[in-house]
Amino acid sequence: MEQVSRQINVVNSLFLLLTPIAAVAGIWWHATTMGVTLLEPVLFVIWYLACGLSITVGYHRLFSHRSHEASWSLRLFYALFGAGAFENSALNWCADHRIHHRHTDNEEDPYSATRGFWWSHILWVMIDEGGPRSHDLSQVKDLQADPILAWQHRWYVLIAVGVGMGLPALVGYAFGGVPGAVGGFVWAGLARTVFTHHGTFLINSAAHIWGTQPYGDANSSRDSPALAFLTFGEGYHNFHHTFQADYRNGHRWFHFDPSKWWIQFFAMVRLKRGLKSTPDWHIEDKRRNHTFETALAPVVEPEPGVIDALRARMDDARTSFKTRSRDLDRLMAERKEARKAKQAARKQELESAIAALKQEIAAIRSEFTAILADVPRASSA
Ligand SMILES: [Zn+2]
Ligand SMILES: [Zn+2]
Repeated sequence: MEQVSRQINVVNSLFLLLTPIAAVAGIWWHATTMGVTLLEPVLFVIWYLACGLSITVGYHRLFSHRSHEASWSLRLFYALFGAGAFENSALNWCADHRIHHRHTDNEEDPYSATRGFWWSHILWVMIDEGGPRSHDLSQVKDLQADPILAWQHRWYVLIAVGVGMGLPALVGYAFGGVPGAVGGFVWAGLARTVFTHHGTFLINSAAHIWGTQPYGDANSSRDSPALAFLTFGEGYHNFHHTFQADYRNGHRWFHFDPSKWWIQFFAMVRLKRGLKSTPDWHIEDKRRNHTFETALAPVVEPEPGVIDALRARMDDARTSFKTRSRDLDRLMAERKEARKAKQAARKQELESAIAALKQEIAAIRSEFTAILADVPRASSA
């Protein structure tokens, strides 16, 4: 094991400890001396959305995971307001995040949840341990080639202070004079920074501690719809760790995932493209297999060979399920083409092939249920 030299990161620690104090004091002082108008909460919400989404969509799903492509204008927006979130340059943030995914829960993971809530939440930012955990830029060579990100990295502090603190004060001044400027600074600058910080931090801490693991327990990541509400949809973290190239974290239409809706909207107006998403059947296969393995885990084999036989049945069912689902995807695409080309006979032919395949898939789903029912009850003896 490498030698770790721990050192307090004074700048980060002071910033993280002083912003909440300054925010509370500032809001109180501004409210009692100048009075709060509608301007302050409005600026707060605008900056909270702009900086928050620049982290979840920009830093995270676009830059770290390349789950889609975005126009230069949006990349610039994410670079500006992502800096305003005061979570480091995109290059540093993504370098850490890629290591987190590659080595989740291990020694190399910069914010490993196995080191406890507080380490993964905030202490990892306040304490430098050196070594490969911190800002290893060799992880982000692809991103360094983006002139916008290279520029943001170089001027990070200036952009962060300008966009995260200065701009809300300036906009506040434009609409409300000096009281508006102070209000903009304490509400949309200081207080908003605290909320943005802890929203992001909760994904590293809470989303690795509380929630369900529908897709696998190879690492500590968890799905928590409640957390998704606080984090622009990032709470579906077990899904995200399982399918990290997917532009969605909440993959069903009803999952609360504003980052996904933002991406879909900008794809519609052609400022984003190449959205990567995992086929539904692939997600279903992962979930069913994990349910099966979870049911099997506590079982004490009643007689030799029972578990092996169940696993073999499961393997067969999964193979057929995946092959049939892939075929179905292909036939559906062909049907679409036939419909476009107005080939009525071909379309008819495909319709019946699709119906037959769907029946086969339904039968495999019943087999999945039957396999699960055949798992011997866990013996507590
Ligand atoms: Zn991620
Ligand atoms: Zn994670």
